[in-house]
Amino acid sequence: MGTIKCIGVLTSGGDAPGMNAAIRAVTRAAIYHGLQVKGIYRGYHGLVTDEITDFKSENVSNIIQLGGTILKTARCKEFTTPEGRKIAYENMQKEGIDALVIIGGDGSLTGARIFAQEFDVPCIGLPGTIDNDLYGTDTTIGYDTALNTILEAVDKIRDTATSHERLFFIEVMGRDAGFLAINGAIASGAEAAIIPEVSTEVDQLEEFIKNGFRKSKNSSIVLVAESELTGGAMHYAERVKKEYPQYEVRVTILGHVQRGGSPTAHDRILASRLGTAAIDALLEDQRNVMIGIENDEIVYVPFSKATKNDKRLKPELIKVLHELSI
Ligand code: ADP
Repeated sequence: MGTIKCIGVLTSGGDAPGMNAAIRAVTRAAIYHGLQVKGIYRGYHGLVTDEITDFKSENVSNIIQLGGTILKTARCKEFTTPEGRKIAYENMQKEGIDALVIIGGDGSLTGARIFAQEFDVPCIGLPGTIDNDLYGTDTTIGYDTALNTILEAVDKIRDTATSHERLFFIEVMGRDAGFLAINGAIASGAEAAIIPEVSTEVDQLEEFIKNGFRKSKNSSIVLVAESELTGGAMHYAERVKKEYPQYEVRVTILGHVQRGGSPTAHDRILASRLGTAAIDALLEDQRNVMIGIENDEIVYVPFSKATKNDKRLKPELIKVLHELSI
């Protein structure tokens, strides 16, 4: 400790509700511990183009309840090149920033890992993504809010699905992870979920039809993870039209509505805990770790582990959905 006097904070990649609560927590905790804070706009892009502002406690007032990110977010091609990262490092030096807190997903933390290795800069990551696909943390900032948004939408679709006795495929986000789809399906009482984790093993549509999806129901809702591995909701709707023309089928793609909205209590508390822990980690001389929560305890997860993309979806969840959707 002692070497870090000023930190930079940025949000990068896909935005997620609760990112503002995380910015607030990082800023306030840093100031509490006597550190200077600089807000970096538009993720790594702002580091390359020097869009950097001093952050005081007031800069983060009244934002805990807001979706999106006041720092904006972006995808930055330059930062994926050694030349771009060199410019980013030079700007950091110019601004007097000694360490970075990066709030983002898999790609953002991969960028942080590479940057930290190249320039020996202390970097701490916070898992900010609705997809919940970072290894080493039970949930990510934004996931719970997105899940609740999905429930609200599915509840509404259920009303019309039941009235018309239709089969609905509802596509949800998640990239190559099925957390939003499986837990969204369990929580909304959907009949099935089509998720990337099992896409290559079984024909999930066959299974669903075989299990007699209309045994005791007059409507059916299937949540489909957007992944290329599943093919998405349209793919399954087309298949049903061809293979089972007796069913009336509809598709809803929830899209970016899942990224917005005021963060839930869970996400605000998670972001507040992770944000303060990020500053604790820097003060303890930790570097190049993502802060996660496992079994309600703060954990430090090396970037290389967090981004390995092998966060396991509990098979128990598939069983729960299967048993409860008879
Ligand atoms: P997310 O963080 O939501 O997964 P992206 O995958 O788009 O979002 O990554 C966000 C940004 O992180 C990219 O635009 C890029 O600037 C940086 N990044 C991602 N992967 C790398 C990489 N392999 N090397 C350097 N920077 C990267």
